[in-house]
Amino acid sequence: MNIIVLAIPVFFIFILLEIIISHIKKQPYYRVNDTICSISTGIISRITGVMLLMIPFSIYQYFFTHFALISWSKEYATTWITAFILYDFFYYWFHRYAHEVNILWASHVVHHQSEEFNLSTALRQTSTSAWFGWFFYLPMALLGVEPMVIIVVGGLNLIYQFFVHTQLVGKLSPWIEAIFVTPSLHGVHHGQNTRYIDKNYAGVFILWDRIFNTYQVELADDKPVYGVRKALASWNPVWANIEPYYRLAEDAWYTKSWRNKVSIWFKPTGWRPDDVITKVPRQYTIPKDLQKFEIKLPLIGQVYASIQHIIMIALSIYFLLLAPDFSTQSKLIAGLVLLINMFILSLVQEKRIWAFSLELLRLIICFIFIFTLKPPLWWQTFSLLLFLASLAALWPFYRAISIVDAKDLTSSNIKRG
Ligand SMILES: [Zn+2]
Ligand SMILES: [Zn+2]
Repeated sequence: MNIIVLAIPVFFIFILLEIIISHIKKQPYYRVNDTICSISTGIISRITGVMLLMIPFSIYQYFFTHFALISWSKEYATTWITAFILYDFFYYWFHRYAHEVNILWASHVVHHQSEEFNLSTALRQTSTSAWFGWFFYLPMALLGVEPMVIIVVGGLNLIYQFFVHTQLVGKLSPWIEAIFVTPSLHGVHHGQNTRYIDKNYAGVFILWDRIFNTYQVELADDKPVYGVRKALASWNPVWANIEPYYRLAEDAWYTKSWRNKVSIWFKPTGWRPDDVITKVPRQYTIPKDLQKFEIKLPLIGQVYASIQHIIMIALSIYFLLLAPDFSTQSKLIAGLVLLINMFILSLVQEKRIWAFSLELLRLIICFIFIFTLKPPLWWQTFSLLLFLASLAALWPFYRAISIVDAKDLTSSNIKRG
């Protein structure tokens, strides 16, 4: 059931390997801020998943028990193979609708916000697909596939997809690209180039795209420009999930037409009421002119943000592994605390000077919390050293930012380029 959580250490080993290889090959596939943001977004999606993933399972169980046409024995390999293929077929349609309808895209766009394409991009998953994603796999339960089998093949599908988020593997032989999703084909899916938009939806078998006319190979003269036309321009993993819905809500609020206030959510992706296009103008990227979003941190800031995020990610993984034994209330509280920690950290990472006091408070509360748990002496000593080292690094980080000119002290510093 918890196949994705168990695979997390493997994901990190491969990310580390890809970082090392791309560094040796002098290929700039990774940027510190982007990688941190992608991984944090992925961790948050798993944390919210702890709370929400039981909902689709219960729905599948209900429909499987009451309405399944036949029951497939999970003793047979053919059941698993058929379920795996069926899952990918329904994934294709889930993914395609997630790109084609405004409200569904608001959820899925999180996966496309990164302007890089590497293994950490694969972890960058939405936290808000639980409310509609289950619907697309419901036919499997009705066809008699056990809910547990659906969840397991879904996990395997996602693990396959992890490995196609890399630029280290170029184009593969044409017969492989005719049947399977490959890194090059999925790179096309992440491209914002006009001819690459809304192409290659499949998870494992690219055959579905060939059958339903959404297949596109990578062209030598049109290298994918990764990301989306309406850039997120933030490193905040919580905001990354809220921003797309906020944009739609903003349009629904400002349009005068009551009909549009409702229909905008279900219109094709990108559709906006005529009256808000001028009232709330938005900037869109022209792929060939893309300047990647970046906020340059001083070295001390990079080290500080990286280490604090690594600590939070380690704690989150620890939580994800223990979560099945937690009560619902404990899950909610622990999940929320982790979310708040990552939220504050990303504010500091975005050089929001006012957030440094919040960060200091966060460090103190974390430290006190650890001591209230009365951990073993070695753990207390380690926590104390970590706390002091964090304080010692936070101050020069703060100073390095606050000595730059006044314009740089405000959020207007968050610019592209
Ligand atoms: Zn997509
Ligand atoms: Zn992807």
